[in-house]
Amino acid sequence: MGGTSSKPVEQAGVAGRSRAITGGGGGQKGKQGLHKLPADTVKAHPEDYEVLEAALAKLLIFNRLDPQLQRRIVQEMYERKVGAGEILMKEGDTGLAASELFVVKSGKFEVLQRRQGQNVRVNMKERCDCFGEISLMYDSPRSATVAATTDAVVWVLDRAVFRYFVREIQETQVSQIELFLNSVPILSPLTKEERMRIVDALEEATYPAGTKVIVEGEGGDLFYIIKDGEAIVYVDTPQGQRKVNHLFKADFFGERALLSAEPRMATVEAYTKLVCLTLRRDTFTEILGPLEKLMTREKSPQVVAQKMAKLQPRGSHVHRPLAEVLIKRRKKGRQGDTWELVRARGHLDEVQELRKGGTKLVELDGQTKDANTLVLTEGPVLGGGAFSRVSIVAEESTGRTYALKRMRKSAVVQCPEHVYCEQAITKNVAHPFCIRQYASFQDKYHLYFLFDLMPGGDLMDVLVAEASVIKHRVPQGGWQVGCLAPKVKMLQGMSEDLARFYIASIVLTLDYLHINHIVYRDLKPENVFIDSQGFTKLGDFGFAKVLENGNRTYTFCGTPGYVAPENVLAHGYNYSVDWWGLGVLMYVLLTGRQPFSTPKTEDPMVVMRRIVDENYQIKYPPYLSPQAKDLIARLLERKPAKRIGMLNGRAHDVMNHKWFEGLNWAELEARRVTPPRKPKDSDSAKRLKELVDVERKTGGKVPKESAEELQDCEMVFADF
Ligand code: ADP
Ligand code: MG
Repeated sequence: MGGTSSKPVEQAGVAGRSRAITGGGGGQKGKQGLHKLPADTVKAHPEDYEVLEAALAKLLIFNRLDPQLQRRIVQEMYERKVGAGEILMKEGDTGLAASELFVVKSGKFEVLQRRQGQNVRVNMKERCDCFGEISLMYDSPRSATVAATTDAVVWVLDRAVFRYFVREIQETQVSQIELFLNSVPILSPLTKEERMRIVDALEEATYPAGTKVIVEGEGGDLFYIIKDGEAIVYVDTPQGQRKVNHLFKADFFGERALLSAEPRMATVEAYTKLVCLTLRRDTFTEILGPLEKLMTREKSPQVVAQKMAKLQPRGSHVHRPLAEVLIKRRKKGRQGDTWELVRARGHLDEVQELRKGGTKLVELDGQTKDANTLVLTEGPVLGGGAFSRVSIVAEESTGRTYALKRMRKSAVVQCPEHVYCEQAITKNVAHPFCIRQYASFQDKYHLYFLFDLMPGGDLMDVLVAEASVIKHRVPQGGWQVGCLAPKVKMLQGMSEDLARFYIASIVLTLDYLHINHIVYRDLKPENVFIDSQGFTKLGDFGFAKVLENGNRTYTFCGTPGYVAPENVLAHGYNYSVDWWGLGVLMYVLLTGRQPFSTPKTEDPMVVMRRIVDENYQIKYPPYLSPQAKDLIARLLERKPAKRIGMLNGRAHDVMNHKWFEGLNWAELEARRVTPPRKPKDSDSAKRLKELVDVERKTGGKVPKESAEELQDCEMVFADF
């Protein structure tokens, strides 16, 4: 066995760059996001509910929901008449025009897609067919045109409505279970956060009436909470069985099993059909450690307070004095280059800090600028993402260089909370493997961040440079062994040693973020940057969020191939999504492909269906070491409560995994090791050339915002 390496592959061979997405406002708390329907709207008829539920059961995001919740959502659907020949949705439409899912009530529709300038019919839809599933998750352009071929009626479901109810009901359920747990005395030493982790680990079990759920004298390792139904408690006495209690919803039993396997002290029998939430002792121990240890531990409020203080956004809610920021931008013209001056407003404290130690005189239009004005000269482009453009800038008085990230206000105004989170978090994180933000400012059209400059490109650049096609002997089973097996060409990512260095660095980063209650939510190679020495820094905190103790978040966001099942299913989630993301990232670095992308597909919905489908088996190329495979599989565990990183040892369980054997974590975190790979200029050269070419083609053309839009932006970003 073993591979022979051949020439490196093009980026196209490697899993391409991926765009980040967000479900945005739809998941907001409160009903404000829901727009009012006209008074004459016809809601779905109660006699149609079952038909609708059956039709929607085909959708992954719907069929995993609680039946009660499914009914609640169906009740919110309404009818829309579509005349023969009318277009219901148009290929390429975005925004509001792409925020609804349809189920056909009557009539027929044709599905058309543009192929070489022609509309081609690719499908027909009739009663009970659905289309637009992905619109329930995020704002994705319509992938086809759908037109009625007869007079027709559809039922409509709006993303904002859908996500509002999913969230509301999940939250009610979670807080209900939390209340149940609060009443269990044996669990009283748990913090709120620990209780939330238990909520995630509970499993539902149903018992027919008459079942003996636990039996006096037998050992047991399950704890039960009654979700629905009634139960009777008996004890054996010399006079026979004696009823000692009758249990109802929210009552619990068998709690001593969480401590030890000592014999049950009573028998509990289902009096009606009984639905219980159960928890095993070993699951409990895996997640929180032995209960008896929790019962004796000392809580240290100081430690908690210290952690919290570290991350309080500095100066928020306090008026911050403003300062002038001037950006000199080179404009290419027919008669050579000219300089354009962009005026922006920033924060005085940041500007003064940046100019500290600066000795060069800063002159502009014959005027000398004092320490309260920041002048930046823009240089070459470094990259661009779904929402941004990043370039090198030099600060005039010190000559120091930074990365300047620029976002168009109108592009992010729908979800300003993401930008505000990015601002607060990158300002306050202090870890050797996290990008630092030095300042933020804005002009009429843009928001800006000034970051550490990362000249080594990102991990996707490294992957493209390191990936290769190898020939590998694959034993086909049977009599073919060893060297007799045929050689098969396959794509290989970077070496395990190199990937180990990067993944280990990210493990340290995630641990730091999670300890500080930050969930990152967009782990992928494009967001891990390489500094001049070859160390990583995590950047792009556009989706990061601070979670209060044990809280969950519901917004769908991330990048399609990288999102965790609990994120796709809108179940509410927290730090677990980052460990999942790490699993995907590790797979991508080692194989050059995404784990849920085979068989090949361009459809994000297909990928997300595989992510939540327990029957979808991830394929591991034969060259992966067993340790690497094992770690990936533990990270890509679909149940968040059982995922490595979420268990009792948290990040330490990951650090102690065999794949990292021999790694000196303290030395790595102190940056006292030599990075295995020095960045090369060529790493990102091709990508940057393409980026510049694209910009040249589009001529830097940007949509002009209306006065109204600009006013909106001004208001929304007043505190930026
Ligand atoms: P988005 O939120 O739009 O994805 P990112 O912050 O990820 O924006 O930046 C987009 C790209 O710009 C990155 O993938 C990277 O190639 C480049 N980039 C971003 N920040 C830096 C930086 N500090 N130094 C060097 N390159 C950067
Ligand atoms: Mg990015």
